[in-house]
Amino acid sequence: MTNPAATLPPRTSDALSVQDVLDPSAIAALRTRLRGPVLLPGDPGYDDARSLWNAMIDRRPALVIRCLGVADVVAAVEFVREHRLALTIKGGGHNISGLAVADGAVMLDMSLMRGVRVDPAARLAWAQAGCLLGDVDRETQLHGLAAPLGFVSTTGIAGLTLGGGFGYLTRRFGWTCDSVVAFAVVTADARIVRATETEHPDLFWALRGGGGNFGVVTGFTYRLAPIGPEIVGGAIAWRAEEAPRILEAFRTLDEDAPPELSVAAGMRKAPPVPWLPEAVHGQDIVAMFICYTGPVAEGERLLAPLKRLGRPVGDVLQRRPYLTQQCLLDATQPKGRRYYWKSEFLPGHEDDFLHAARRHAERLVSPYSLVIFFPLHGAIERFPSDHSPFGNRDARSVVNIAASWERPTDDAANIAWARAAWDDLRRFSTGGTYVNFLTEEEGSDRIHAAYGPHYERLAAVKAEWDPTNLFRHNKNIPPIR
Ligand SMILES: Cc1cc2nc3c(=O)[nH]c(=O)nc-3n(C[C@H](O)[C@H](O)[C@H](O)COP(=O)(O)OP(=O)(O)OC[C@H]3O[C@@H](n4cnc5c(N)ncnc54)[C@H](O)[C@@H]3O)c2cc1C
Repeated sequence: MTNPAATLPPRTSDALSVQDVLDPSAIAALRTRLRGPVLLPGDPGYDDARSLWNAMIDRRPALVIRCLGVADVVAAVEFVREHRLALTIKGGGHNISGLAVADGAVMLDMSLMRGVRVDPAARLAWAQAGCLLGDVDRETQLHGLAAPLGFVSTTGIAGLTLGGGFGYLTRRFGWTCDSVVAFAVVTADARIVRATETEHPDLFWALRGGGGNFGVVTGFTYRLAPIGPEIVGGAIAWRAEEAPRILEAFRTLDEDAPPELSVAAGMRKAPPVPWLPEAVHGQDIVAMFICYTGPVAEGERLLAPLKRLGRPVGDVLQRRPYLTQQCLLDATQPKGRRYYWKSEFLPGHEDDFLHAARRHAERLVSPYSLVIFFPLHGAIERFPSDHSPFGNRDARSVVNIAASWERPTDDAANIAWARAAWDDLRRFSTGGTYVNFLTEEEGSDRIHAAYGPHYERLAAVKAEWDPTNLFRHNKNIPPIR
């Protein structure tokens, strides 16, 4: 493959702004090539475009290109290459590290590209890269179909899928990236390619979890499965005093669960929501978030004992539309708070782990923070270990120590809590970690841990498709030289 990008001189430092290196005529010329708007600092919409889910990130791109189609993406990549600028890509803007924005860089904002087309007969959905999870769910559920996406509907499909992806359907169908059958890509040398099992299979493999390292993905084609529209799902909460017994029951339920059943467990302070009585608001609770996507009558039978367990303070486990299940946790994760996470894949939930996790949950310093375990085991194990670079197919669960608060003055205390919990809990890890949950300061060693034996192959694919590391504002895999 010839790649003209390989012959380019080094790019301008990220610290320089576009205005430092370009005269206004270059930006005017760029505008004539685009359908979407170009935003400069001070323009209406600029601050909205640069703002991310995590308010800890406050960076100022030199230029925002709001792409309206593939032609805009091609023009943007050519512009960035021609002027040797730094480039970032924003999908849903939910990455905890704020990878979508960098000071002085050109930001490709994909959020205007939210089209979804479903082929119910073929059980496929094509989705543009600016879609949020809820966009895809809404369109696929019209046909009683779904792709395995994540737990919060406002997350971007692009970052989630490119980093791996898991949610309530993972136990049945594997990682989100396992259900992708085609990626539409604009490469570092601004070519349009399609990556599938037979077209550019090396790129296809790398995009299944290798992050945004290999090109600008403009569209994803997902394999769908019949789901709902009615399922059995929701949440049950108990006071923290009952946590030992509840977590023991959670472990048994999780271990015995058929693939159609997915149960997450979390510990936090009760939020002031209508389904929890006022008396419990602000008190420590343990909760399960449950989703059963098999026949509803079977789900009700299977979950009936759970509804009788202990003395629940709230119970909204019931028949419901799959779409409402997919939004169940949205309100707990609003855009604009400050967030810091630590996370590990787990081989199971042994006694010592559950005990230690409880102790850390008792010490959390913000009413919004939580310690949560998401189930994974099932379909991910059915794929060969080299099916995708996002391996970790031995993981049975993932723990996320999720700190969340409002005031900058509380940063240190909340970050210290999460780090202390992680320092203790990481001894229970499989040794692997989820690239999409890595925070800003987690660098090369953690990226190696995320990809394990697949790292070297990823670096080789990177050298083929992005030899100058144009796509480096991500959890970066530098090309093997
Ligand atoms: C509230 C919340 C809930 C979450 N729940 C889950 C969950 O249930 N399951 C799960 O697996 N993960 C979950 N995540 C993690 C999530 O997968 C990552 O945060 C992911 O990066 C978000 O994708 P995004 O498009 O919103 O992010 P962005 O910040 O926009 O982008 C993230 C990365 O992807 C790259 N990228 C974005 N678009 C493109 C593109 N078109 N082409 C190439 N690269 C691109 C960016 O360059 C950046 O490196 C959650 C995150 C949050 C904040």
